[in-house]
Amino acid sequence: MKADFHTHSTFCDGKDTPAEMCARALELGFEALGFTGHSFTDFDPCGMSESASAVYRAEIARLKKEYAGRMELYCGVEQDYFSGCVPPEYDYAIGSVHYVLHDGEYLCVDWSPERTRENIEKYGGDVYAYARDYFALVGGVLERTGADIVGHFDLIRKFDELDPLLDETHPQYIRAVADALDRLCAGSKRPVFEINTGAMARGYRSEPYPSPRLLREIRARRCPIMITGDCHDRTKLSFGYAAAAELARGAGFSGQLIIKNGKFTECEL
Ligand SMILES: [Zn+2]
Ligand SMILES: [Zn+2]
Repeated sequence: MKADFHTHSTFCDGKDTPAEMCARALELGFEALGFTGHSFTDFDPCGMSESASAVYRAEIARLKKEYAGRMELYCGVEQDYFSGCVPPEYDYAIGSVHYVLHDGEYLCVDWSPERTRENIEKYGGDVYAYARDYFALVGGVLERTGADIVGHFDLIRKFDELDPLLDETHPQYIRAVADALDRLCAGSKRPVFEINTGAMARGYRSEPYPSPRLLREIRARRCPIMITGDCHDRTKLSFGYAAAAELARGAGFSGQLIIKNGKFTECEL
């Protein structure tokens, strides 16, 4: 099934309006499209204010009517850890960590290679202390936000192909990841992880999040996955999906979740 359940529009930091995204998705034969505008925090310029969120929801509601019978549309949100609980108005939510809080300062983990180096400097050069703080938040992201899906699990490695700083085989990194997974999997419900191709579409990475190594960890814990594009540009809809499906199969997955008729539903990869 062709679909993307992680997309951004001009209501946050995307390039295209929701209407433009829908038109392109339908041309590509998509059966469903889910919008996930960034939630509001008082320090992140990408987030939608309360009034912008209301206009966003009204626009998606209008488009749902326009596309009824042709393509399923969903009004979701990408809820940042620091935005707290997902408001009940949304169809579903992706819970994401984009910042760590260090000495009272919010440090963005996915801004640029330069900013990442500055962040690590603030940790006295201890890249694994930085990773530990990041994964401590990721481990609590569903508990904190009530979201359905764990967003870009290892976003902290966004620039690692351009500027390698973190070794994911380092014992301290492995520990931080395992602690996050243990916490996410502590409840009776298995958390859903996205396989996110967004950084591939933007030329930062040759592989999606999470890395193949982490995908195997997620598979070992019997958690479901969802392939998403984190699409900010309609020309990139479904970018890298074939590669993502291949990696998922390589990690032992045979299916993924989609949203169909308003419900999370298993389908073949
Ligand atoms: Zn994100
Ligand atoms: Zn996103």
